[in-house]
Amino acid sequence: MQYDVIVVGAGPAGSTAARESALRGLSVLMIDKAEFPRDKPCGGAVTVRCADVLDLELSPVIERTISGVEFTWRHRWEISRSSSCALAYMTQRRDLDTFLAEQAVDAGVDFRQREELRSVERNGDQVTVRAGGHSYRGRAFVVADGANGTTAKMAGIQRDFQPNIALEGNITPQGSFPAKWETSIGIDFGGIPGGYGWVFPKGDHLNFGLGGWKHVGPTLRRRLNRLVERYGFNPDDLWGMRGHHLPIRSNGSKLVDGNTLLVGDAAGVIDPFTAEGIYGAVWTGKAAAASVEDYLAGRAPGLDGYRKQVKQQFRPELTVARQLHDIFHLCPSLFVGIERTSSILWPSLERMLQGRSTYVMITRDLGPIWPVLEFLSDSIRVFPLLRRISGLPDLVPPERFFRRLGGHKTAT
Ligand SMILES: Cc1cc2nc3c(=O)[nH]c(=O)nc-3n(C[C@H](O)[C@H](O)[C@H](O)COP(=O)(O)OP(=O)(O)OC[C@H]3O[C@@H](n4cnc5c(N)ncnc54)[C@H](O)[C@@H]3O)c2cc1C
Repeated sequence: MQYDVIVVGAGPAGSTAARESALRGLSVLMIDKAEFPRDKPCGGAVTVRCADVLDLELSPVIERTISGVEFTWRHRWEISRSSSCALAYMTQRRDLDTFLAEQAVDAGVDFRQREELRSVERNGDQVTVRAGGHSYRGRAFVVADGANGTTAKMAGIQRDFQPNIALEGNITPQGSFPAKWETSIGIDFGGIPGGYGWVFPKGDHLNFGLGGWKHVGPTLRRRLNRLVERYGFNPDDLWGMRGHHLPIRSNGSKLVDGNTLLVGDAAGVIDPFTAEGIYGAVWTGKAAAASVEDYLAGRAPGLDGYRKQVKQQFRPELTVARQLHDIFHLCPSLFVGIERTSSILWPSLERMLQGRSTYVMITRDLGPIWPVLEFLSDSIRVFPLLRRISGLPDLVPPERFFRRLGGHKTAT
């Protein structure tokens, strides 16, 4: 069967690329090896900035609307921050992804489930794929098969990723739902090098997880147990525990090769600072569809428009996020302590989550301080061992240091 576009993977990246392509009048095949509804290791938090890019009425899959964050440092120093508007929506991926796939089908996409891609042949401007015992041909090929996908390799495309890792599990509280987590999430720093632990409330349960540098993999389970205990729950009650990669691309990693584009986790567009991946998946899915339309309509000689758009509009965001991540994780307690005493970091984060600001705008607000921070980040890249420092006991003894500064618990 012949299509304009073949999309492999029906997560947020694939469904968005497929839906947007179909809305542009293209014939689209989307294949996924799973049967939907299918779940996926994920906190399921959809930030307001992500929902804005999706531009769909998400209420059927929203279980909670979040307007507050409780930050902690190794479960101490509770710093409560809140916003007068929503920051994020809590979903379950089995519902969110099924909903997004349905939207794609409604737009005209031919969705084939339980069909695992087995081979890819690329000849000039045609691609032939085999999946589920069928053979399909397309003029453009969108790879959206997630963090562990092998399609790029089958298509002969090399990628350059830094694979971080995450582990998550759920607990259903006994009795009534904890009031503290009705509209807030919890973020704990210091419990894992290069990342953070979280508690995300869902309709009737709490999702706990943590993610960080790959080398902490063997200790993830122990760290998750400790996280759960410190939030006041019993690790024995954890269910649905799953680990997964968080692929973070290097700047030169391929996005386009001939008539093939990579989107979402397959392109490694996870935010290195927050580990938010659904936003990048949706953003790249949309950008890919626009480029495919231009190419197939003969308005562009190829798909390089997608690479340029990512390079000009999205990559600067990932670059700054990576730089902030490096700097923050050199000594996280310092930044948590600063926020605890003065609340100067929260307004930027709040605006970011709500899509009212960007990482690049934050660097502009920092004025002459930013080049200094950039230099620090570059130094960390040159001496990568520095990145492991956050795995060592923190350089600044947090309590003593901030007691001297007169730190106290603040709330906004
Ligand atoms: C523990 C954890 C927590 C996270 N929490 C959040 C969060 O709260 N918010 C957030 O924004 N991001 C979060 N992320 C990141 C987010 O989950 C990903 O960035 C996002 O799912 C990427 O979407 P995608 O469409 O690229 O890939 P996926 O959602 O992984 O979809 C890929 C699809 O491809 C299919 N597939 C794979 N191989 C084949 C094949 N050979 N043939 C056919 N189909 C195939 C799979 O079945 C799957 O349906 C988290 C990640 C982890 C690991």
